Amino acid sequence: MNPTIVAIATAHGVGSIAIVRLSGADAYAIGLKLSQRPSLTPRYATLTPLYALDDTLIDEALVIYFKNPKSFTGEDVVEFQCHGGMIVADSVLRACVDAGARLAEPGEFSKRAFLNGRLDLTQAEAIASLIEARSDDAARILARQMKGELRGYIESIRDSLLEILAYSEVVIDYAEEDLPLDVVEQIFGKLEKIKQELSRTLESSVRRSGLMQGYRVAIIGKPNVGKSSLLNALLDYERAIVSDIAGTTRDTIEEQVRIGTHLIRLVDTAGIRDAHDEIERIGIERSIEAIENADVVIALFDSSRVIDEEDRSIIELIERYREKKSFISILNKSDLAQSFDTATIEHYNPIRLSCKQDTQALVDTLSTLMDRDNDSQEMMLISQRQITATRETVRAIDEAYEPLHDGELEFFSFHINAAIRSLSSLTRPYELDEMFDKMFGQFCLGK
Ligand code: GDP
Repeated sequence: MNPTIVAIATAHGVGSIAIVRLSGADAYAIGLKLSQRPSLTPRYATLTPLYALDDTLIDEALVIYFKNPKSFTGEDVVEFQCHGGMIVADSVLRACVDAGARLAEPGEFSKRAFLNGRLDLTQAEAIASLIEARSDDAARILARQMKGELRGYIESIRDSLLEILAYSEVVIDYAEEDLPLDVVEQIFGKLEKIKQELSRTLESSVRRSGLMQGYRVAIIGKPNVGKSSLLNALLDYERAIVSDIAGTTRDTIEEQVRIGTHLIRLVDTAGIRDAHDEIERIGIERSIEAIENADVVIALFDSSRVIDEEDRSIIELIERYREKKSFISILNKSDLAQSFDTATIEHYNPIRLSCKQDTQALVDTLSTLMDRDNDSQEMMLISQRQITATRETVRAIDEAYEPLHDGELEFFSFHINAAIRSLSSLTRPYELDEMFDKMFGQFCLGK
């Protein structure tokens, strides 16, 4: 049997209350021992003194007993809501250990919840990420996933795949003849629908990944165009070294700043120039690297100067990446006399501003751009693990088409099996029994 575990569930430090949580077969007995009560009513908050094993009074606390299986972990759980600060919670924790509990490992409560079927992996991941959410919208998506939204979506697709697999297995085992053509068409149609749905989820999850991790915003532009000034204006304090000497900002600098409801990560890169020396070449490579790592790229142009080769290389980069990344173009230094041939970048709808005076127009554009991704109720994969597993599923479905077409059902089943396994790794492991249930339940073989 699992040992009873205990942990302080609230953050360390000074706060008005601290929660100590126990889970396991002895949780109730330990709860009674510390409260010195004959019983605790499940799901009732009981105000009671708490005592150490030598009868010293520790605190007066609220105690709640959650009887298994209706608890977070599925085991007996007791929560002590005691007074905050480190001393009281530590004393309660120690008393629990003295009474037979052991300290929980990180994540052990959630692990037990998963093992006892109280949570699937998507919910467990949502809980872990919610604590570190970087935007209001991310928090909302995660809250929906905690309630099982992603699980429901994955399981309905998994169910469809299981049906297809069961059908294929039945035909392999019982049919003397080849699959009729219309059945092949039907299965093909179903698979295609599943694949499209998963691909759309993948695409939108990758596109919106900034919602979870914080949007990465890169600032590019030739030296002296105002990148550091812009960064500073956004951060509202001097972080990068601003200077008139071209190429001062050679290192990539990253800072976090809150824009609207989002926490964004700003990256300032070395200026892009037609590389002659090693360091400047690194600058170009770094700009390309920054673009590739960014969700949004701010491309700066100096409107007080005539367009030159370096600006053109920025335009080339925009052209090269504009399908894949969101770009915001800026004509900076609007406070000076204007010399830039704006026609060359007019189709990017550049924002005219002065980093020295007012960057509100940029902040508004950034906000709108990031908010654009939010309204959709589209399903979202929130971790690399989930994205990889979904990609694997799509790949396995792709590989199933050919054998289906050629009537090689054993190979077809093999790939659909692989697809189900990958998809199942998102939520809960796949068990062969489920396929048999589908097979025998669905086809009423009567044998
Ligand atoms: P970077 O090399 O692209 O990082 O450019 P900096 O931010 O170091 O700016 C280069 C020079 O342009 C500095 O002297 C800034 O003060 C100046 N500068 C930046 N933005 C503006 C602006 O909007 N108006 C004016 N007049 N000067 C600016």
